[in-house]
Amino acid sequence: MSRETSGANARKSRWWQWFSGSVADDAKEPGTDAAPASGTREMTAREVWLPAKRRMISKIADFLIDHDLDVLPSTLTVAYECVTGGAPRLAQQILERTEKGLPITLGWIEEQRSETTHDKNGEALAVLMGRLEDSLDEFSKTTSGARNATSEYSSALRQHVDELEGVGRAGVVITELAALTRAMMERSIAMESELACSERRGQVLQTSLEETRRVADMDHLTGLPNRRAFDHMLEREMRDARDAGESLCLAFVDIDHFKRVNDTHGHPAGDRVLKLVGETLNRIADARCFVARHGGEEFAVIWRNHTVEKAWKKLDSAREEIAGRRLVNRANDTPFGKITFSGGIADAFAYPDKSAALKAADEALYLAKQSGRNRIFTAGESPDPQAKAA
Ligand code: GH3
Ligand code: MG
Ligand code: MG
Repeated sequence: MSRETSGANARKSRWWQWFSGSVADDAKEPGTDAAPASGTREMTAREVWLPAKRRMISKIADFLIDHDLDVLPSTLTVAYECVTGGAPRLAQQILERTEKGLPITLGWIEEQRSETTHDKNGEALAVLMGRLEDSLDEFSKTTSGARNATSEYSSALRQHVDELEGVGRAGVVITELAALTRAMMERSIAMESELACSERRGQVLQTSLEETRRVADMDHLTGLPNRRAFDHMLEREMRDARDAGESLCLAFVDIDHFKRVNDTHGHPAGDRVLKLVGETLNRIADARCFVARHGGEEFAVIWRNHTVEKAWKKLDSAREEIAGRRLVNRANDTPFGKITFSGGIADAFAYPDKSAALKAADEALYLAKQSGRNRIFTAGESPDPQAKAA
């Protein structure tokens, strides 16, 4: 993870060219290789577009070569979208990473792509569930109101119909009125029981909706809250901690060289390692400490009412526990070797806002990686020069 400033600058300047020059501009400039001298005859559409196509393919190739990426459908799609401006947010993230000297790996690309899709789906689902919850709430109010009214109405009718029948001898009209009233009363009793049934169905739906919301907030592999839930949790905890005058720390944790685990032992074994790290981290969780899977092989932790030192000790003990274990791939009894993680902790209230605090924890994690991995860094801490040199 060494920062090669000159290499990064060269990449950046090429990036700026890509972003600033549009494909349409390219199309206007005929290529030297294919275009005949203008004036002799009009150029065909193919002659106009061929050089532009070649340039675009060469930009896509430059992207893959610069970032040392394999030629795969996913990397080609990302390169195409970045070159044509189809994915401006991803392009901006790649530019920022390149500026920082961070590598653009296949893992990182897949993570961004799945997060974008997941985020969009998750947000759409949350909006839909919110609407459904509101409608159900309205529905249950209406049915219970209607049921109460029907119930009052039928008891009033019951009282009067008995009196009417008692004066039946007063005339045929009254007798008919009494029969009609009895029919109405029976109908409203039936309605009352139908409404009670709808009310019960509404309550069952409300419970399933709460369960759906719980599942949507959960990471299915580790059973931990997912990134969306973490974002909401962090917002809520920051607000509550501020109101209560308490401190708040947050950390990012990233498994070291996790790609190697997948490459050597396969994805299912990698999944088992992820679960184990999630479980170990979750053991430090309590009423004041929350652990979430932030995505890929990254986890996030929030501590309420903890100093950075206390949070560091807890996270470091989880790090030591994992690093001290000798894990074996139970599918074929092959040792995994040492599984370790690195972490970065920040005091959430030492920064102007949530995103600045998250950035500080992420930068501390980056320094922990750079300083040799298998260690936890605090935001603002300078890396040990010896460790850095190692
Ligand atoms: P570093 O120490 O710098 O963090 O290196 P790394 O290999 O851990 O990081 P890199 O970003 O290169 O690779 C992360 C890998 O994590 C790539 C991706 O395929 C894998 N990964 C992400 N999510 C999952 C998952 O749910 N299951 C498995 N098995 N692998 C995953
Ligand atoms: Mg990572
Ligand atoms: Mg990693």
